Amino acid sequence: MDADVLIIGGGVAGLTLGARLAEAATKVVVLEAEAAVGYHTSGRSAALFEPTYGLAPVRDLSFASADWYHASGLLSPRGVLLVARAEERETFEEDLQAMAMTRLDLDEVFARMPVLRRDVVALAAGREDVFDIDTDRLLQDSVKAIRAGGGEVRLKARAEAIQRDGGVWRVRVGGEEVCAPALVNAAGSWVNEVAAMAGVAGPRFQPYRRSMARVPAPEGMDVSRWPMTFGPGESWYVKPDAGALIVSPAEEHPMEPHDAWPEDMVLAEGIARFEDYADAPVTRLLSSWAGLRTFSPDRVLVIGPDPVAPGFFWQAGQGGYGFQTAPAAARLGADLVLGRAPEVGAALAAAVSPARFG
Ligand SMILES: Cc1cc2nc3c(=O)[nH]c(=O)nc-3n(C[C@H](O)[C@H](O)[C@H](O)COP(=O)(O)OP(=O)(O)OC[C@H]3O[C@@H](n4cnc5c(N)ncnc54)[C@H](O)[C@@H]3O)c2cc1C
Repeated sequence: MDADVLIIGGGVAGLTLGARLAEAATKVVVLEAEAAVGYHTSGRSAALFEPTYGLAPVRDLSFASADWYHASGLLSPRGVLLVARAEERETFEEDLQAMAMTRLDLDEVFARMPVLRRDVVALAAGREDVFDIDTDRLLQDSVKAIRAGGGEVRLKARAEAIQRDGGVWRVRVGGEEVCAPALVNAAGSWVNEVAAMAGVAGPRFQPYRRSMARVPAPEGMDVSRWPMTFGPGESWYVKPDAGALIVSPAEEHPMEPHDAWPEDMVLAEGIARFEDYADAPVTRLLSSWAGLRTFSPDRVLVIGPDPVAPGFFWQAGQGGYGFQTAPAAARLGADLVLGRAPEVGAALAAAVSPARFG
C-alpha cells in the first residue's frame, strides 16, 4: 500500500486536508496533475477572508475557520466597503443585509477611498473583520505538514484511471499504480471527471469563470490601506495588491474545466463598471488572469464520504470560498476520513454532506 489516504488535487482543498490528516499520523499521498501546487483556481483568487460571504453553511464554515486563521499569522487587516448610487438602494440594502454590514458616513468613506466619485456614490456600508489571507504560505505550510508526516505531494502526477479492487483504490499515474484504501476527490473544477473515472455518481458540479485585471494604482496614491470595495450586486470589485490594484468584473460564466484565461471584453466591461464609481481611469493592465469557481448544485461545499461508494470521499464545491473555509473544511474532512466525530458539529457536517443529494 502506498498510503492510508490518496488525495487527488493539489489545491487548497486537497493540501489543507492532507495537512490535517498528516498531523493525525495518517500517511497521505497527494496527486497533482500540474508542475506546481495551486496552479489552477487556488493560485488565482482574491485571497480574502470575508466570513459573511455565501450561504449559511458556507458562512458557518468560514466563522469556524476564524480562530485557526487568527492564530496562524496568515491574516492581515483589509476591511470591506460596499458602495452604490441612490437609485441602487434596493440592491444595496440586500447586499448590506446579506453581508451584515454597517452603514457608513460618506465623508468617512471618501476619506478612506479618495477615488470614489462624490457625484455618484450616495450609499456606503462596510465591515472591518475582513482580512487578506497569505494564500501562498497556506499552501506551502500545508505541503510541509504533509511531508513532515511522512506523506508525499507528487507533482506532474495526473490520475488517469481509477479502480476499486479488494477494498483498495488503485489509481494509474503514468506507468505507475498508486494504492490506498481511502480516496479523496479534491480535484477542483475536474471533480466530475475524477468521480466518473472512479465510477462514482455524485452531484453534478459546475465550474464558473471569474476574471481579474491587475492595474497600476492611481498616480501618486498609496492604496495599501484601501478596503476591498464592491459595487452593488457584486457587479465589480477592486482590491489593493502589492502597490497596485486588482479589479474584477465578478462574472460567473459557466465553463468546462480547463486552464482558464480572461476575455478582454469581459475585463473591459468590468473595469468600465468600476470607473463609473471611481475617478481612477485605467489606461493599462499590468497583468490579467481568470480562474474557475466550482459550485455544487446548491452552492454549498460537499465534504465527506460518498453515501454509496466505500472509501470514496468528497472535498469539493469550494466555489468562491475555498480559502476562507479551508481550515474548518479540512478539519471536517479529516474527521470524516478518520471516522471521528466532527469537531464542527453534526448539523454543519450534515449540511455539507454528499448524502444531502440523495
Ligand atoms: C477570481 C477568483 C477570486 C477568488 N477569491 C476568493 C477569495 O477571496 N476567498 C476565497 O476563500 N476564495 C476565493 N476564490 C475561490 C478559491 O480560489 C477556490 O474556492 C479554491 O481555490 C478551490 O480550491 P480547490 O483546491 O478546490 O481547486 P484547485 O485549486 O483548482 O485545485 C484542484 C487541483 O486538482 C488538480 N487535478 C484535477 N484533476 C486531476 C487529476 N486527474 N489528477 C491529479 N490532479 C488533478 C488540478 O490540477 C488542480 O490543481 C476565488 C476564486 C477565483 C477564481
